Amino acid sequence: MTFILGLTGGIGSGKSAASQWFEAQNIVVVDADIVAREVVEVGQPALVQIRHIFGDWVILENGALNRSALREHIFKDPSARQTLEQITHPAIRTAIIEQLAAAQSPYVILVSPLLFETNQHELTDHTLLIDATEELQIQRASSRDGQSVEQIQKIIQVQMPREQKIQHANDVVLNDGHLEHLYAQLRPLHLKYLAQAEIH
Ligand code: ADP
Repeated sequence: MTFILGLTGGIGSGKSAASQWFEAQNIVVVDADIVAREVVEVGQPALVQIRHIFGDWVILENGALNRSALREHIFKDPSARQTLEQITHPAIRTAIIEQLAAAQSPYVILVSPLLFETNQHELTDHTLLIDATEELQIQRASSRDGQSVEQIQKIIQVQMPREQKIQHANDVVLNDGHLEHLYAQLRPLHLKYLAQAEIH
């Protein structure tokens, strides 16, 4: 089994920037956010189950999931969120395991904003946190997506606090400078992971 690195960080911390750097080193990256979208695509068993449980209103005319309607529904009714997660989480987990197993690279990365929150770290051998101050997170995420400061703060609030993530992670990189500064910190870690993967 290939050595699996779990990569995480709060919104705007620089996870994607770090993932892209690892991909440029020919490391396969499995993105939990992408998998989460894939498992509810047309024809997927999880989408059939969602329609069965929530009703036809959750499906658009073209057969795809009506994300905004579902989002609004679970926002109003927290138990509906739980029901939804009971369907999607196992499907996401299974798909992540399959994609990690199929990956062909010296080691493989699972990137997930909720690596610790959803226990996805259990699927990994080692974890790396991309850390940034809340101020930087807000600055970067708002200039990336044009989201309001309030929206970003809400997302930060439902994510595990920084200090707790720092305690959980095996390695921590503070992304508080230029991108070159981030890459300079990733380079020695990449060499360490290659060595760890060799003896894994
Ligand atoms: P995440 O995936 O953790 O939400 P991203 O990697 O997408 O965060 O980073 C958020 C935004 O900030 C992106 O536009 C990214 O290019 C930019 N960014 C990340 N790290 C840095 C940095 N060290 N210096 C400048 N911009 C950065």
